[in-house]
Amino acid sequence: MQLSMALAGNPNAGKTTLFNQLTGARQHVGNYPGITVDRKEGIIHHQNRTITLTDLPGTYSMTAYSAEELVTRDYLVNERPQVVINIVDASNLERNLYLTCQLLELGVPLVIALNMIDVAKDRGIEVKAEVLEKLLQVPVVPIIARSGFGKQELLNACLRHTAVKTGWNPRDISYGEDLDTTLNELITTIDENALLSDSYPSRYTAIKYLENDDQIIEKGRRNDPATAGILEELVAKTTAHTQKTLDVFPEAIIADHRYGYIKSILRQGVVSHKFDTDRLYTSDKIDKVLTNRLVGPVIMLLILFAVYQFTFSWSEVPVTWLESAFTWLGAQVESNLPDGLLKSMIISGIIDGVGGVLGFVPLIMFMFFSIAILEDSGYLARVAFMMDRIFRIFGLHGSSVMPFIVSGGIAGGCAVPGVMATRTLRSPKERMATLLTVPFMNCGAKLPVLALLIGAFFSENKPRYMFLFTMLAWLVALLAAKILRSTVLRGAPTPFVMELPPYRFPTLRGLLIHTWERTFQYIKKAGTVILGISILLWASMTFPGLSVEKTAFFEQQRQAVMSAAPSEIAAELQADGGQLSAPATDLNDQLRRINNAETEARLANSLAGRLGTSLEPVTRLAGFDWRTDIALIGGFAAKEVIVSTLGTAYSMGEVDTEASESLGQRLQNDNNWNKVVAVAALVFIMFYAPCFVTVVCIAKESSWKWAAFSMGFNTIFAFVMAVAVYQVGMLLNLG
Ligand code: GDP
Ligand code: MG
Repeated sequence: MQLSMALAGNPNAGKTTLFNQLTGARQHVGNYPGITVDRKEGIIHHQNRTITLTDLPGTYSMTAYSAEELVTRDYLVNERPQVVINIVDASNLERNLYLTCQLLELGVPLVIALNMIDVAKDRGIEVKAEVLEKLLQVPVVPIIARSGFGKQELLNACLRHTAVKTGWNPRDISYGEDLDTTLNELITTIDENALLSDSYPSRYTAIKYLENDDQIIEKGRRNDPATAGILEELVAKTTAHTQKTLDVFPEAIIADHRYGYIKSILRQGVVSHKFDTDRLYTSDKIDKVLTNRLVGPVIMLLILFAVYQFTFSWSEVPVTWLESAFTWLGAQVESNLPDGLLKSMIISGIIDGVGGVLGFVPLIMFMFFSIAILEDSGYLARVAFMMDRIFRIFGLHGSSVMPFIVSGGIAGGCAVPGVMATRTLRSPKERMATLLTVPFMNCGAKLPVLALLIGAFFSENKPRYMFLFTMLAWLVALLAAKILRSTVLRGAPTPFVMELPPYRFPTLRGLLIHTWERTFQYIKKAGTVILGISILLWASMTFPGLSVEKTAFFEQQRQAVMSAAPSEIAAELQADGGQLSAPATDLNDQLRRINNAETEARLANSLAGRLGTSLEPVTRLAGFDWRTDIALIGGFAAKEVIVSTLGTAYSMGEVDTEASESLGQRLQNDNNWNKVVAVAALVFIMFYAPCFVTVVCIAKESSWKWAAFSMGFNTIFAFVMAVAVYQVGMLLNLG
């Protein structure tokens, strides 16, 4: 018979390491339906048995407080694994046993893997597994997940456990007289009406009611409103009582008693210290420096800068390889397919689209690799700890800092890995607020556009303006976060519960697995949708194309130029597809001008073009003409497309994003443009809808509803700001 087991434990207890040790390469990563918590499964063969092991999300507790915690307990009650392996960090026992305590109360068949005994030993802590086993009355197996020590014994203990134990066996912990009395009343009512008895032991349901657990209360109401009413009334009475007598809520009393229970167990000879307990351990010594009030932030900035450098400079080479591979592919198609719609679709729709997705892969890999180093070594927790005070003001969390940096907090990042980096945030609202505001940062693709406009209108002070716009991005992102957290994402800030785990040397194996898992998820998630959207965008800028008369008109003009030219030059021209060297530059110029006019006319007539034209009356408020509008619509594909589309719309032909000098001059001389319009456009481009790769990632990390919100919110927000800039600027005559 196949056995199912689950692995539960605190973040950083070594779950992933043990999971990899036990399952090797036989694992599969998926998602829990509807949320972005990873669901990992692996197969173990042991003593001729086949075991499916599920890696549950790391949690400190089992409240209804975060997605991870809900997933953990829902999994346990719905799937009822035959054994739950609870991995605890022996060097940090007291805190780790809090989760153990709740698993015992739920009554799941438990086996404790006492991990990191090597670390504990280094610190002079010895944990006596057999004593702990006797006191907790569950098997306790000492292991070192990193080296694999003890894993056979652990599996043996699990198999032995399945052989004897059947069914759940919830543990009673006393919560003091007041609560125990209420608990008994609650349990009686629950038992009489069999409320939720399919899923939870009645004592567990009762405790959850006292803990004011949203999910259970909601389930109770749905299942049996009458009984739920009685229970809620009982709880309300007790709450009022504890409030009056002790000035606390029952949940606090429950937590206190759980810690008390753990303390009492630990005091009975489980732990013995070789050294003085208040001696400074290595980690504490390191922390003295790294989280020092003065030196800490400086070191942090240096480290973040190094991560940034590593991510963006080291990935440059593979990114260039990928780009040239796709350019080569494009060139192959260019020379092997006949001109026409199919070719244009393959090149501009498919190759550019897929290239766009895969082009991010090296970046994402390098970024996740650096984050994995920071995370596995324990430093990320320190960064979060130091940044928390500042980010809290804006309704964010200390852990928000990494996504912001990666997205372009130092100009030139990318919002795609930034959005994915928000996974380190545990609270859903703070995570959403971060997710929605990271696209405000100045990513690498916005830089050519900023460079074009700043170069054209403020060339005298380029570096200063670049710096200014980076600061502006931070300011606006933080303010927008504040706005979101006071409106659609209102809610109390999460207390900073993340502990500071001891520093550790990350293992290469761990780093590589972390990096690969996350990167592959990006490819799988983003890759599928993006092809479709990319083709749609191409189509909207291509169809319906030019009318027969218009096409004929341009052809006629070309003929006219050609027939005016001496016949041998004209023949050569035709053979070269309109390109010719020195002698006929003038002719060449005339032809190019006609070609550019045709491309412009085709763009103007396309769906995107018509949309741009029809938007003009509105966008005039911000000083944008229809050509700018088209470019901004194109910018949804990727922000750097704004430059090339502006080029087409202004009849400049193909514009290289790097060599946009002449386009800048063209804009400078255009009546529609001046300094005020340029600033309005800059503001709009910095803050309007993220590019569609980012939007797809937001959707995959949250939901399409939030992705749509992000597009709408950002665009309206950006437009209001652009209008304000333009109107005030024009009023003050700054143009
Ligand atoms: P998770 O958050 O529970 O999945 O924890 P990980 O498996 O990612 O482990 C966190 C860190 O602890 C990693 O750097 C591991 O290499 C390290 N680690 C895990 N188990 C042990 C162990 O038994 N001994 C030592 N020294 N380090 C360990
Ligand atoms: Mg892990």
